[in-house]
Amino acid sequence: MNYIDPHIHMVSRITDDYVRMARAGCVAVSEPAFWAGFDRGSAEAFADYFRHLTEFEPRRAAQFGIHHMCWLCINAKEAENVVLSREVIKLIPQFLGKPGVLGIGEIGLNKNTKNEATVFLEHVDLAMQTEELILVHTPHLNDKLKGTRMILDMLTSDARVKPNRVLIDHVEEHTIKPALDAGFWIGMTLYPITKCSVERAVDLVERFGNDRIMANSAGDWGVSNPMNVPDFIRALRARGFDENEIEKLVYRNPFDFFAQSRSFNFNTQ
Ligand SMILES: [Zn+2]
Repeated sequence: MNYIDPHIHMVSRITDDYVRMARAGCVAVSEPAFWAGFDRGSAEAFADYFRHLTEFEPRRAAQFGIHHMCWLCINAKEAENVVLSREVIKLIPQFLGKPGVLGIGEIGLNKNTKNEATVFLEHVDLAMQTEELILVHTPHLNDKLKGTRMILDMLTSDARVKPNRVLIDHVEEHTIKPALDAGFWIGMTLYPITKCSVERAVDLVERFGNDRIMANSAGDWGVSNPMNVPDFIRALRARGFDENEIEKLVYRNPFDFFAQSRSFNFNTQ
């Protein structure tokens, strides 16, 4: 079955991962901007990273028949530095409108600090002014429930934000319902250890259905597996989901959400 991995950091993956993903049916990916493994020292470093995401990575993916799209921002970890964040936010508009730049993301919270919230709101403001989609990172482990509540409050209190143009990512059992109820799209991050295992993600689909839900592998610097979406497909089949229901989760939902972006350029022909 053809699938889209809607959240994967290919910058941290080797070329052989593209080969394996293509063999397993991956036809498109979207790569949110995130942490480099260390805090970058200047806004220029982000400009180079945005060029990597918008120029180099689409070419590398295309060699394996995979269409690569991306999202731009300064991630929550580095958003603690408000001065640097503002310089980076100023850089973003020159990259918006490039083919395959789907919007602003992954913005969010890491330790739920005041500075992170300030930078989150300034990103949201940029997205509203430029009519871009938003992809949101919710924090991990102990900070998740509080951070998700803070994020949903900030988004729902801005009347300009249309929930169907926002994806809330890394949801788990205790955070999926408020995000879905508020009308947002949601992403389940399939991780070998933390976040959401493949089996737990199937449980969530059994409980909450397959509308406005998608699944990703995140594939980042930590222990992660870029083959988790194909594993999810197999697990759904084993639980009795039919091919149409599965295709909606792993292909049509990300496609429909991304297709709202003015720079969406995935041609299925
Ligand atoms: Zn990520």
